[in-house]
Amino acid sequence: MQHSILVHEVNTDRKAVAFTFDDGPHPIYTPQLLDIFRAYGGRATFYVIGEHLERYEDTARRCLEEGHELGNHTYTHPYLTRLSREQCRIELVRTGERIEALTGRKPVTFRPPYLDFDEGAAAMADELGYAVIGAVNTGAEDWRQPGVEHILQETRSSVRSGGILLFHDGYQDREQTVEAVRILVPELQEQGFELVTVSELLSWKNRE
Ligand SMILES: [Zn+2]
Repeated sequence: MQHSILVHEVNTDRKAVAFTFDDGPHPIYTPQLLDIFRAYGGRATFYVIGEHLERYEDTARRCLEEGHELGNHTYTHPYLTRLSREQCRIELVRTGERIEALTGRKPVTFRPPYLDFDEGAAAMADELGYAVIGAVNTGAEDWRQPGVEHILQETRSSVRSGGILLFHDGYQDREQTVEAVRILVPELQEQGFELVTVSELLSWKNRE
């Protein structure tokens, strides 16, 4: 049941989805993704790892300059459920402060590495003011490089209005991800989807 804490999609009347990219910034793959959004329009959310953000700050800056959002993906990418409460806090706070130093604002959304999450981590995220973000297309598993076709099929079959889409731009070869995104961005736009950041999507949530 731990995944019920995560926001996988937002109940909204707007026809929109949120592309998200975990594990960057990366000096090769993040710019390739930015080029795709620059060509077609639309905005994305980059769930950055603090230690990568320190190394590739210029890449993060370009994300911001082009209208995208930075979200928190911890400082060292640990399994949060294996950490003490204090270690968990440090993971979130260090990266949150790095992002705030760049953007001038506290990040408002957080994605746990491996989607590994429990009540303790939830309480910590809540205390620090974060919405905790999952995804609807976890079956795509782009992180394991399963082939462009697999990423496309799993994402297409799970896309729906208000959905959050998960991809990866860091750690390993991400050419498959870039290729899939290059196809998905114009395809979804032709279907009438707006491509928005996670915080925009959250702001459009219908009142229940
Ligand atoms: Zn990750």
